[in-house]
Amino acid sequence: MADSGAPLSPGAVIGILGGGQLGRMLAVAAAELGLSCHIYCPDPRSPAFAVAAARTIAPYDDAAALAEFAAAVDVVTYEFENIPGDTVRAIETRVPVRPGVRSLETAQDRLAEKELMGTLGIPVAVFAPVDSRTDLYSGVGKTGRPAILKTRRLGYDGKGQAAIRSGDDLNAAWRAVGEAPSVVEALVPFEREISVVLARGTDGTMRAWDIAENRHANGILAESTVPANVPPEIAAEAVAMGERIAESLGHVGVLAVEMFVVRDGDATRLLVNEIAPRVHNSGHWTQDAALTSQFEQHIRAVAGWPLGDTDRHSDVAMTNLIGDDVARWPAFLAEPAARLHLYGKAEARPGRKMGHVNRLKPAGKL
Ligand code: AMP
Repeated sequence: MADSGAPLSPGAVIGILGGGQLGRMLAVAAAELGLSCHIYCPDPRSPAFAVAAARTIAPYDDAAALAEFAAAVDVVTYEFENIPGDTVRAIETRVPVRPGVRSLETAQDRLAEKELMGTLGIPVAVFAPVDSRTDLYSGVGKTGRPAILKTRRLGYDGKGQAAIRSGDDLNAAWRAVGEAPSVVEALVPFEREISVVLARGTDGTMRAWDIAENRHANGILAESTVPANVPPEIAAEAVAMGERIAESLGHVGVLAVEMFVVRDGDATRLLVNEIAPRVHNSGHWTQDAALTSQFEQHIRAVAGWPLGDTDRHSDVAMTNLIGDDVARWPAFLAEPAARLHLYGKAEARPGRKMGHVNRLKPAGKL
């Protein structure tokens, strides 16, 4: 079915593929706008179910369940990029899927992502595709060491990756990624990491929030700070890159682009690391420090509604609560100007994102 981009009416139903915390926060934002959400997720303990009007618990390749889901909703979106492309293709014959399958399939394959950047003239780290042990040897010849071997698909939060330092055995790295199709890329000596989070509407309008500066620990986002410590021209260049990517994908909804800021003497350069065709952890600060949150904006875009203003009224630091960090929830509640968000997950396993806290300061005082 061709996507006419027609706006939904209040009361309409948005189908969301995926039932994690992002789906949960999207469903809450939708409810505030008089829209309701139907979550489709194979995992019966999905945190989004508790706040959604309807649910389907079924595998992503269950044709009958997908058909029933598509018949019950007015538009479909997704909250993580490892949804099979064929799932989206099956649904989009019946109901529009926003963002479309092109955004999804580009973001779920690190090689496709880097090739798109190449087409757009957007710089990335030196890399080589790796489909075999021999490719890894020749690839490391190109990237030098240190390097990182990353599986093309299904990697997240630093999973599916192997570091290659001087002296490391390449055979061991190849085994560590399960001998899966991968890319090897040079380790970037970045000064800092930033992300652009923006939204594109069905009419092609784009709105970006201020750039976030991101600190990772063990491959997982630990903290996002806004404003980022980058000169205005670098921030503008980052947004322009994000907009070019969104435009080229015909993206509808929120898109996040993670980047490295690299200092070469007096010059500062940006390299794109990866894109996410969805609301993103580094955009959680927008819930409390911007006029429109990324969750509301994604819902607006997916509904074919006008986008909201992305102006920021406060400086903010977003801290992820990972594993046992969440046990400190009473202390966060007691902090002035801290906004606590918990995802309703029962078990605080190590490395599991349990919630986040946004700490606000009047703009310019952070
Ligand atoms: P990714 O799974 O690609 O988002 O990687 C997770 C994190 O690992 C990034 O946010 C960086 O902190 C680090 N990282 C990934 N790739 C590189 C690279 N080529 N050079 C330096 N650090 C990297």
